[in-house]
Amino acid sequence: MKKLSDREIEDIYNFVKSFHEKFLEKSGVILPSLRKSGKFTKSALTLVFLAKDYPKTRIVSKKEITEFIRKYYPDTNDVQDARHLGMQKGWYIASGTRGNGIDDLGYGEYKLVSLEEPHPNFKLHRKEIVGELNWDEIKSKYDFRCASCGSKEGEPNFRYPGTTTKLTQGHMDPNKPLTKDNTIPQCEKCNRPDRNYWIYDRKGRVIKVADPSAVAKSDESVKWKIYKMLYNDYRGKNPNDE
Ligand SMILES: [Zn+2]
Repeated sequence: MKKLSDREIEDIYNFVKSFHEKFLEKSGVILPSLRKSGKFTKSALTLVFLAKDYPKTRIVSKKEITEFIRKYYPDTNDVQDARHLGMQKGWYIASGTRGNGIDDLGYGEYKLVSLEEPHPNFKLHRKEIVGELNWDEIKSKYDFRCASCGSKEGEPNFRYPGTTTKLTQGHMDPNKPLTKDNTIPQCEKCNRPDRNYWIYDRKGRVIKVADPSAVAKSDESVKWKIYKMLYNDYRGKNPNDE
């Protein structure tokens, strides 16, 4: 796919924005900003890419999205935004990694289903989405400290003493929306993009894998052990035979 002109991106974004205002905002679906520091954001670019030609959207692979984003951010190698737009921000984006009724989606494939309804899993949680009030409540339960490293809001970060700690809303499970029960305070240093590979407990400790692509970054010996384990678990079943 060729690079869209800035004008085309703005037009598609504004088109999506009009649907958001009309149908989605009331359900708590979060519209990403179009620009940050003058540059298009990855999240907005992903949404625009998925919404192109709406309602005749097509199935796109994570690879295609990544290639599109690379035209604006050449160093990008793993775009998580499509998944986050669906799971965390509430957009009705079907994904091949979880069953949501679109059978022809393969692993790592996405399709924007509707701009008039939030993601079906999101609707269930929207009332619990973290607002100003309960965010302060959550932070105070943690004595205004990062759940992972303990740095205190407004004070120097433990691991980066030159910086002042600012607490951000971290997902315990990045595949679920940011509800009260799924939020821990994390400093900006701990709440980095690569954290989304993992699921955290209430104490900010990693307890599970959230994104199977974390395995691809692992050492060969670990990958082999995982392969053996899964091979035994699934009794050697070929995943392509389904
Ligand atoms: Zn921290």
